[in-house]
Amino acid sequence: KVVCVTGASGFIASWLVKLLLDRGYTVHATVRSLDDPKKTKHLLALDGAKERLTLFEADLSVEGSFDAAVNGCVCVFHTASPVLLSVDDPQTQLIEPAVKGTLNVLKSAAKVQSVKRVVLTSSMAAVAFGSRPLQSGVVVDETWFSDPLVCEQKKLWYHLSKTLAEDTAVKFAKENGLELVSINPGYVIGPILQPTLNLTSEGIMGLIKNGKELLADGVYRTVDVRDVANAHILAFENPEANGRYCLVGKVVPSFEIIKIVDELYPSLDRSERYKDGKHVEHVLYNVSRVKAESLGVNFTPLEVSIKDTIESLKEKNLLS
Ligand code: NDP
Repeated sequence: KVVCVTGASGFIASWLVKLLLDRGYTVHATVRSLDDPKKTKHLLALDGAKERLTLFEADLSVEGSFDAAVNGCVCVFHTASPVLLSVDDPQTQLIEPAVKGTLNVLKSAAKVQSVKRVVLTSSMAAVAFGSRPLQSGVVVDETWFSDPLVCEQKKLWYHLSKTLAEDTAVKFAKENGLELVSINPGYVIGPILQPTLNLTSEGIMGLIKNGKELLADGVYRTVDVRDVANAHILAFENPEANGRYCLVGKVVPSFEIIKIVDELYPSLDRSERYKDGKHVEHVLYNVSRVKAESLGVNFTPLEVSIKDTIESLKEKNLLS
């Protein structure tokens, strides 16, 4: 079976391409530039790549850019989107590529008869930031939608881009008879396959090495990258899969991540900055849909994700 993965060089997508090849799929993978080995070399080195991986150049901002890559595919996994938390111009750096890019990908998919389903990488950023306050006792699930006005007021531009992109995808799919399933992960951690840090791995590095805390509230709604990639594949393979799936393995404050790092690597040279704190948030995330109903995802224990993250950073000489 032939499938397409957009933004294949990314953290999540690299794992998705790897797991798809492992399961015997033929993969059309899009990258922004075929000339940058940092974006392609690790993909071309995957098991099965020689026989079943083809790279395509495609840019979210160019209409028709994805036509060649989706041609002949049964599923399009649309993961490409800018992941930036601080921007000068939210409109051009985040919102346009996310929203117009999603529309471009879906338009290409809608032209192809063979495409049975589109699996969209959305985010908890498109779920939890609505008008309902995140306070003790509330339970967040797939019925929540982030509110573009709230995102704008709070200047949560990345959240706005993901919310508008998912909304655009849902509307386009409905109007054009495309099957769409959304995967909405929290903060994704785990081993990296690509040679350079992506934003969320950089965030984990920051916690260890005295960097800047990425999340304003210091609470990480973590999920392992391998579980996220697996959920994408199950969302395609299981005909019953539909709608949105929230993926949050474990909610932890930053100091608890540091505690686990300390226990696993007592001799690691690192900052004391995020060592102390107390957990104040008691928001619950209901992930029963992704666990039980149509997908059956089992979450990797947090300790395993953290250990594997650190091992991969060491292996790539990113954690000196
Ligand atoms: P990465 O930054 O590693 O991946 C983003 C990918 O999008 C890259 O391949 C990037 O290409 C591509 N991209 C960005 N802008 C464009 C563009 N204009 N044209 C073509 N491709 C583009 O991040 P992640 O793997 O973490 O993110 C992948 C997806 O998962 C995104 O949709 C993100 O919103 C979503 N997500 C991530 C979470 C996380 O915690 N990491 C949580 C929830 C959702 P290039 O390498 O060339 O820049």
